[in-house]
Amino acid sequence: MAFILCSLSGVLRGRLSSPWIRGKTLKRILAAMTALALGVPAAGAATVSRTYSYFSIGGGTLDEIEAELGKHGPHVESSGQRHPGATQMKFSMRVAYSENEKRCRIVKGTVSVKATVILPKWRRPKRADSDVRLIWDTLSADIKRHEESHIIIAKNHARELEDALPSIVAPTCKEAAEEAKAMMAKVLAKLEKAQNDFDKVEGLNFERRLIRLLIYRLQRMEAYEKAKKN
Ligand SMILES: [Zn+2]
Repeated sequence: MAFILCSLSGVLRGRLSSPWIRGKTLKRILAAMTALALGVPAAGAATVSRTYSYFSIGGGTLDEIEAELGKHGPHVESSGQRHPGATQMKFSMRVAYSENEKRCRIVKGTVSVKATVILPKWRRPKRADSDVRLIWDTLSADIKRHEESHIIIAKNHARELEDALPSIVAPTCKEAAEEAKAMMAKVLAKLEKAQNDFDKVEGLNFERRLIRLLIYRLQRMEAYEKAKKN
């Protein structure tokens, strides 16, 4: 059993309030760029259960929202900072053995992941204008997608472990169990690296991604307005 905590590490710090995101540039960006389809990673067969918990934030401007996220966001031990979202994951493994006088073989492994996702909920003040609302809707959806991706990465590793467990054969079942534990530790170490790599890439792409998502929303809004007029 292991415990992993990861989050959208630090991508918001100093970025949410950067000038590109402020006010009226959105329409200009809309004219210059096009939306791309979002890729959805493949899902494995290991079982995953999800629980959601929320923390409330206030703030009427992007600067205030950023400050609120920094104040109320979940604390991530690995970085010592607060984050806009986080996912706690608990792995458990069950193995079935087949034993005779000579050896013990693992015949089946079941790995389950229990995920608790912590997400922000914005209590929008009346004074918040529609630009801020649009950006928040886009950002919060992206935070959710990001955390969901961590779960999918975990699920794929859980599946990999499930597939590898039946290769274990040992003189006794006690030794087979030890090998299974070692195998799990190895997969979890690999998983941790995969999660960190994912955070790195997501951090680098953050601005570009958010702009693309904003454009997509604006296009949908425009199409809706057009359809209403006709
Ligand atoms: Zn993350």
